Amino acid sequence: MIPVARPELGEAEWRALREVVESGWVAQGPRVEAFERALAARCGAAHGVALSSCTAALHLALVVAGVGPGDEVVVPSLSFIATANAVRHAGATPVFADVDAGTQNLTAATIAPLLGARTRAVIVVHQAGMPADVAPVHALCDPLGVAVVEDAACAIGSVYRDAPVGGHSDLVAFSFHPRKVLTTGEGGMLLTSREDLAVRLRRLREHGMSVSASERHRSDRVVLEQYLEPGFNYRMTDLQAAMGVVQLDRLDGLVARRRALADAYRERLAALPGVRVPQDPPHGRTNHQSYWVVLPDDAPADRDDLLARLHRRGVSCRRGIMAAHLEPAYAGTASAPLPVTEHLTRRSLILPLHHALTAAEQDQVVDALAAELHAAPAPRAAAHAAQA
Ligand SMILES: *Cc1c(COP(=O)(O)O)cnc(C)c1O
Repeated sequence: MIPVARPELGEAEWRALREVVESGWVAQGPRVEAFERALAARCGAAHGVALSSCTAALHLALVVAGVGPGDEVVVPSLSFIATANAVRHAGATPVFADVDAGTQNLTAATIAPLLGARTRAVIVVHQAGMPADVAPVHALCDPLGVAVVEDAACAIGSVYRDAPVGGHSDLVAFSFHPRKVLTTGEGGMLLTSREDLAVRLRRLREHGMSVSASERHRSDRVVLEQYLEPGFNYRMTDLQAAMGVVQLDRLDGLVARRRALADAYRERLAALPGVRVPQDPPHGRTNHQSYWVVLPDDAPADRDDLLARLHRRGVSCRRGIMAAHLEPAYAGTASAPLPVTEHLTRRSLILPLHHALTAAEQDQVVDALAAELHAAPAPRAAAHAAQA
């Protein structure tokens, strides 16, 4: 079975973990600081605040942006559900905007009609690593005092307007879950260039403490902490951060490999009529965190059926990006039609893409897809009858 994703981990990660274990300090400490500094520098932000997940990062981003009960936050429905959940964690209401069919991302044009008196923030997602066009969103939202938070969960190593994603907004959230390009097992980080936000975020992730536990440990005198506001336990461990430092060193290679595999897919999939593949937008370059394809409207099998058929051929794919408003948790909450979102979520699937994927495996994926798209009898009813 060809897996849809697999993290790229090796000896260097082992060594880094071992050093942390032998140091005797495994919770948030010097490795977390090193990882924060390295990632912020790599992505063009002044500060990194490491957290337990990107979901925690999005939640804290909204808290420090002043979002609370009674507020609305514009988000794409077409995203992993954590984007909408973070809004609920902050006590606010997600308002779902439609996306651009080419990038799968919000645009200033899809956001604009949903801005109202209660809109406090917008979360722009760089879906599957595809950079969103953030500058026009700032041009729309900044004059209105609406905060722009970037959900860059998938976008480490992606490029927007010739600079890495991470330095274009006050609050940019990354994920290090194993499905993403760089992993720490679980983990997240907020990048910001605002010192005031960084200070508050560090406090909120650690129970609202005035002095962090690791600072107190390092001090040569007794330091008594205060609890300045109700906070959370959203800390990353030094075990996770040590892996993150190693993975970050390899980021350029990880992204280059994904882009080479994506080029190979694009060439081979060109032979399948009507199958649409991801393309870099004029404003940036994707890291191809996920390789999604959109099926033609006249494809013989429906998408879910196709996933099962590909699985039987030894190819593990996934449905495309989910749509939160079609899940029970958010049923009936869309305030406007979302035609592009609904089309993409029903007609797209994610093909295997990971560092160690071979050319032969890519051929197997494309051959399986070609066979299923062409070989199945055209009228769907007949196909089902034939299987029965
Ligand atoms: C994975 C993902 C998240 C959640 O990241 P975690 O680190 O697992 O909390 C949020 N948003 C998007 C778009 C994602 O793909």
